[in-house]
Amino acid sequence: MADTSDKADKRIVIVGSGFAGFCCAKRLCKILARAHRDIEIVLVTPNDYMLYTPLLPDVAGGLIDPRFVAISLADSLPRVRLEIATAESVDMENKTITVTSPQQTSREISWDHLVLTPGSVTRLFDVSGVAEHAHGLKTVAEALYLREQLLRQLELADREDDPELRQARRTVVVVGASYAGTELIAQLRALADDYAERRGFDPSEIRFLLLDTAERVMPEVGERLGDKALQVLKKRGVEVRLETSLQKLTDDQAVLTDGTIVPTHTVAWVTGVTGSPMLGTLGLPMERGRLVVDDHLRVPSHPHVFAGGDAAAVPDLTKPGKITPPTAQHAARQGKILARNVAAAVGIGTAAPYKHRDMGLVVDLGPRFAVANPLGVHLSGLPAKAVTRAYHLYAVPRAVNRWAISLTYLTNTVTRRPLALLGLVSPDEASFGSSEGIHS
Ligand SMILES: Cc1cc2nc3c(=O)[nH]c(=O)nc-3n(C[C@H](O)[C@H](O)[C@H](O)COP(=O)(O)OP(=O)(O)OC[C@H]3O[C@@H](n4cnc5c(N)ncnc54)[C@H](O)[C@@H]3O)c2cc1C
Repeated sequence: MADTSDKADKRIVIVGSGFAGFCCAKRLCKILARAHRDIEIVLVTPNDYMLYTPLLPDVAGGLIDPRFVAISLADSLPRVRLEIATAESVDMENKTITVTSPQQTSREISWDHLVLTPGSVTRLFDVSGVAEHAHGLKTVAEALYLREQLLRQLELADREDDPELRQARRTVVVVGASYAGTELIAQLRALADDYAERRGFDPSEIRFLLLDTAERVMPEVGERLGDKALQVLKKRGVEVRLETSLQKLTDDQAVLTDGTIVPTHTVAWVTGVTGSPMLGTLGLPMERGRLVVDDHLRVPSHPHVFAGGDAAAVPDLTKPGKITPPTAQHAARQGKILARNVAAAVGIGTAAPYKHRDMGLVVDLGPRFAVANPLGVHLSGLPAKAVTRAYHLYAVPRAVNRWAISLTYLTNTVTRRPLALLGLVSPDEASFGSSEGIHS
């Protein structure tokens, strides 16, 4: 039976508490409060936090504490009813959604308006062994695991007498040289360098390999900045192999598409994303793994259903014929338009189309280096580092998290990264299945 037991005259259910869902809920609270309307907002989310994903590479690199990138929903959205659960399916006709709690109990919730913002998951492609032996970078568990795996392998290598086995433990492969993979390898390199210096061996003994099928690193930031990033990576001892990917992975070696065999126990797979698996259960039209919506973020033929963020193929009105890329920049702004248009659907204000011109990217590449192209201005080195850090501090949506991150940045100028191995996340907890819900 659907849960219809409340006094509110309507209920808006939002699925997912990422950038789009969080910004939608926050803006809706303001609009409804101003209009004095008693409409309940229910946020269905498996976690009680919004994750600031752009700083996950810093978590993997041991620079930032994972708690600092987790924005508490209870504190940020006090008016919203949190339903800590996973949305499994939607009945469009009866306007209900079935959710499953972490204790595996299922129930139905009725809705008058539904906002679908379940984001995306890592795209695995069909490479043998990746699902079993590689790890992604979309969740706190995955970021923490990558840090711990690197430190664990480095410690095991120190005790290894066989030079070949030692080198395998001292080898890290990152697949995907877009901004997330490139930031990740830069941060892991910095962590490994700190480790080597403190243990008294040459950091170049730790091998880092970055692979991508593309011809350049980070095509998103353009040729000039991409080349600067490439130079810095090479200077720091990262081998970059372009137009090359992974053909096969086992627990102790990676076979590359050019036939090279790389003995390793640490492989990160950061090759792009596709819409959340729950979208496939809806029976709605999809484009490139994302839900089709119109420029008002409405799902066609379902006037009470909206979608945005990585989960939706939102028409890019600044580039006719294209859809907006899956970035936080778009997801957060789409969240606000979702709020406005859902409010319009319940009779408050007017709806608007989503239109946003990309403002550029900031990419942190470890100690004293970043590249950024805010509003088309190309920056690299320390100026880009300052802009990158300032941007994150501005964009993190809660003051206490901002403070914690600024203090970390400050401390980091005079101290080195902590190397303690906490053993908090098991390989299974950080697997694509457990961590991101990808089941093949
Ligand atoms: C490592 C990394 C670095 C990045 N850096 C940047 C950057 O610098 N700049 C930038 O613009 N973008 C960046 N991005 C991209 C950005 O994170 C995404 O575009 C953005 O998070 C999309 O927001 P969203 O709200 O659509 O989805 P998400 O933020 O992914 O949120 C989706 C939410 O839905 C929840 N969910 C999923 N399925 C269900 C379900 N069935 N039921 C209930 N809840 C569900 C998830 O748990 C999650 O909380 C980065 C991404 C990564 C992984």
